[in-house]
Formats: sequence, structure tokens, C-alpha cells
Amino acid sequence: MLKAILIEKTDSGQSARLAELDEARLPEADVTVRVAYSALNYKDALAITGRAPVIRKFPMVAGIDLAGTVEKSGHAAFKAGDVVVLNGWGIGEGHFGGLAQLARVDGSWLVPLPRAFAPRQAMAIGTAGYTAMLCVLALERHGVTRDQGEILVTGASGGVGSVAVAVLAKLGYKVVASTGRTKEAGYLQALGAASVIDRAELSAPGKALGKERWAGAIDTVGSHTLANACATTRYRGAVAACGNAGGMDLPASVAPFILRGITLYGIDSVRAPMPLRQEAWSRLARDLDPGKLDSMTREIGLGEAIAAAGDLLAGKVRGRLVVDVNR
Ligand code: NDP
Repeated sequence: MLKAILIEKTDSGQSARLAELDEARLPEADVTVRVAYSALNYKDALAITGRAPVIRKFPMVAGIDLAGTVEKSGHAAFKAGDVVVLNGWGIGEGHFGGLAQLARVDGSWLVPLPRAFAPRQAMAIGTAGYTAMLCVLALERHGVTRDQGEILVTGASGGVGSVAVAVLAKLGYKVVASTGRTKEAGYLQALGAASVIDRAELSAPGKALGKERWAGAIDTVGSHTLANACATTRYRGAVAACGNAGGMDLPASVAPFILRGITLYGIDSVRAPMPLRQEAWSRLARDLDPGKLDSMTREIGLGEAIAAAGDLLAGKVRGRLVVDVNR
């Protein structure tokens, strides 16, 4: 038997509970992982609360992330005892996920955990942190360098935002953190933000073009915030868009693209190709200060994940929530 956060379909929609499952209920796949830690990401919170249609098949074990040790493997690249991390590929959406003590997954989804990290740290980073690194890689590939000016990070107190601020600051970028929680200014400055702005500066409908400010931007919010980030990005700068915490819409004009040559990169973590994942994880090992990771992380037990999902969507969680699935 194993403990898991199980989401079931009900007459009134869906509901989540801490359940005891027989191992035989795990799906068919070639690698069995003894999960040590999972995480609570924005998408997990949407899935658990049913606030958005994240779950594609019921019943479903939640959790888009996991880190743990291979127990049994029929996949050539992995053997029992290997320590692995898995982000995305539809776990916790269409295939039983990581908020469970045991998972059976496709070996081609697994990344060997870099030696720099213990499983708990890997999940403190989780999909949010790995996505933050995908955004940083997109800006670097574009050619955004430290000497070009300020980098904007929106939704900065959240999981993606906190990791993005810490990584960019360590790389020497001048980071401007946008937050609705200005009381968290001290937290964001401790992560490395050079300055903190109120998200209200970006969240209202804006002009097609504003004063050029950002050499680059990482946006987790979407909607007017993303449109305004594009409208205030400097000539030939770049914006990496990964989130929709403020809305799915994009009420923007083409002006920043055709008059300032800015580039908008879409960032997806779920189906990112394996070489890019491996690069992101090895860069996290190099460029994310473990002390800063600790300062942005709170640990909860599996049974606390359901209540925490509501808090996360209510904007009450700072940084990252790591889940010890065995307590
Ligand atoms: P969090 O909940 O940890 O952080 C989101 C942050 O966004 C909040 O902390 C808050 O920051 C800000 N925010 C929340 N609501 C609003 C609002 N209405 N208007 C403006 N800002 C708001 O989530 P994550 O950091 O884990 O994820 C952020 C986004 O990125 C989500 O939309 C998530 O779905 C997406 N995501 C996408 C991935 C991909 O593959 N593309 C992977 C991972 C995440 P503050 O209080 O500082 O203002």
C-alpha cells in the first residue's frame, strides 16, 4: 500500500483526498521510483483545487514533479538505486504523479539527479525552479548580457520568480523584482534583487510602447503584465513568458515587435526536450546558491498538500513548497 493525493471525479466536479492505494493500481511503465520528495507547484494547486481543468483522466494521483530512488527498472539507462528527478511529461495530469510514496513512470522521462543536489533540494527547485532556468537559458541564448541593463522578473515572490531572481543575481544581472507583496522587498533583496517594484506598475492596461527599460524580462503573470513588459523592453531585447498567474490573455500590440525588434520566447517545461532539461539541471547545480534555495523553501507533509493548494492560489505562499511524501 502507498499513500497518495488522489483526485477523483464527483457529481459536483472533482475532489482531492489523502488516500491509501494498492501498488497494483499504479499505471504500467518501465521504471518504479520510491519517491522521497515532491513539490506543490502552481499547476498542482490548480489540479488539487479543480480551479482549472488540469486533470485529463480520473482518478489521478497529483504531482507534476518527483525526486527519489529507482526501485525497479526495465529501462536501459536506469538501474535500482539510481537517484532521479522527473518534471512534467504529463505526470499528475494524465499519468499518476509524484504526490505519492511510489510512482511507476517511463524511463525516458527521468533525469539523473546532479550530484550537487539531494532529492529534497531537487524538489525545492521543482518544476518552478527548472522553468526559471529555462527562462534564463532563453535570455542567454538571445544574447542578453549583464552590461545591457536591468532584467525584470514578474511574480517575483512566487516559486518561478524567486528562483529566477536568485539565479540571475548570481550570474551578475541587475534584477528588478515585481511583486504584489511589497512587504517581501527584504526577502527579494536577500535573494539578490537590485530593486523591487509594485506589480500595480505593470498590471493595468498600458500603452502600445512605453519608455525602454528592460534588457530582458521573465514573466510568470501573463495578461497586461506581459503586454507591458514587452512594451517597455529595450530595442532588440527579449522577454521569456512562462506563466499565467495573472491571466491567460495577452492584450498586446505588435508595436514592440515591429518597431523595437523585441523577441517574445514561449517557455514550456512539460515537453521540453531531454538535452535542454539536462542543461537546465546542470546549470541549476552551478548557478543556484543552496543557501538562497533554503531561504525560499518551506517543507510540508503529504497530508498538508491539499490545504496548501488553496493558500498557494490565494497568493499566500512565498517561494517554494517542498513535500515530504513520507510524512
Ligand atoms: P506561484 O504561485 O508560486 O507564484 C505566482 C506569483 O505570481 C505569485 O506569488 C504572485 O507574485 C504573482 N501573482 C499571483 N496572482 C497574480 C495576479 N492576479 N496578478 C499578478 N501577479 C500575480 O506560482 P509559480 O511561480 O510556481 O508559477 C508561476 C506561473 O508560471 C504560473 O502561472 C504557472 O502555471 C507557470 N508555470 C509555467 C510553467 C511552464 O512550463 N510554462 C512551469 C511552471 C510554472 P507576487 O506576490 O510576488 O506578486
